[in-house]
Amino acid sequence: MSRPLPQGATIGILGSGQLGRMMALAAAPMGYRTHIYAPEAGPAGRVASAQTLGEWDDEAALRAFAAAVDVVTLEFENVPVATLDVLTRAGVPVRPGARVLATCQDRVAEKTFLRDLGVPTAPFEAVHDADQLAAAAARLGRCIVKTARAGYDGRGQAKLESPADAAMAWASIGRPQAAIVEGFVPFSAECSVLIARGADGETRAFEVVHNVHRDHILHTTTAPMSDPAVDTVAAEAIATEIAQALDLVGLLAVELFRVEGPTDLRVNELAPRPHNSGHWTIEGAATSQFAQAIRAAAGLPLGDPRRIVSRAEMTNLLGDAIDVTPSLWGTPDVYVHRYDKGAARPGRKMGHITRLWR
Ligand code: AMP
Repeated sequence: MSRPLPQGATIGILGSGQLGRMMALAAAPMGYRTHIYAPEAGPAGRVASAQTLGEWDDEAALRAFAAAVDVVTLEFENVPVATLDVLTRAGVPVRPGARVLATCQDRVAEKTFLRDLGVPTAPFEAVHDADQLAAAAARLGRCIVKTARAGYDGRGQAKLESPADAAMAWASIGRPQAAIVEGFVPFSAECSVLIARGADGETRAFEVVHNVHRDHILHTTTAPMSDPAVDTVAAEAIATEIAQALDLVGLLAVELFRVEGPTDLRVNELAPRPHNSGHWTIEGAATSQFAQAIRAAAGLPLGDPRRIVSRAEMTNLLGDAIDVTPSLWGTPDVYVHRYDKGAARPGRKMGHITRLWR
């Protein structure tokens, strides 16, 4: 394995959202500088040492960025693979690399990869038009269609009760070039595992946490997992297997459904970056997910992921909820995070609160 980056080195981060912001904040105490690359100014660029505003296909800007940083990582998995290829050709290590991104930014590629690995998922089919969707819905029964690319927080998704819903569902997701249809999973709980893998292949997992979504957007994450029926050992084993098979260097979030029955876990989604369900680790774990992502990118030994409180609960602040009352700022063991994102549109992730029980 190559030597860890020395202090004063610069970590390039693709994307300028709140995840990049919290990565940049975590890099500073380790003696690292950060340089954000993104098409538009955002909350990460406001705290990083440097930022480049450039399009994902601006080769000259990407080459200049590559020359200014020692390693590149990302906070956003929908960066075009061609962008990573330009950076790699410019001679800078990219962690995680293009192959991981190609798998995780396309829902069909991701689910196919999982199926080939023998990891349980919802039954699924790839579809390209409303007729194919209707035919798949006839086979799958109640189902959900999702655009193959670029959907998040429930955007680009529609539920079908029967094949008769296909035309409307297809129109509502914008008639994409490709989509995935998944059989509806009657889950009793949603959970996630965040796992880091270093350049030497070592893995460290944060414990399995319990997620509650509202309107398709994460609302609350609780650690430890409050549903005793979830097989947390199996969930961690699945995450480890996926991280190894992807040959990941970095952090991976694995979202799972728990269903009743003997093989009770189904993987829903992967994200090769820090994840909203890991924000509790900032105050609740010995190493935060953001510090862990920086360690993996920098080639440092991975940190201790253990929870250091008896319980942590993270709640997202969406839209106007960011205007928290002054009393919350004054409540012991409550930590308010604001992302400095500008306009508080409904449903937009503007910040989060973590409450600890020590
Ligand atoms: P996703 O964008 O794939 O993470 O989906 C957002 C949310 O929609 C999930 O957290 C679930 O609550 C719900 N959902 C997605 N896919 C399915 C499925 N196949 N069966 C049941 N619920 C789903």
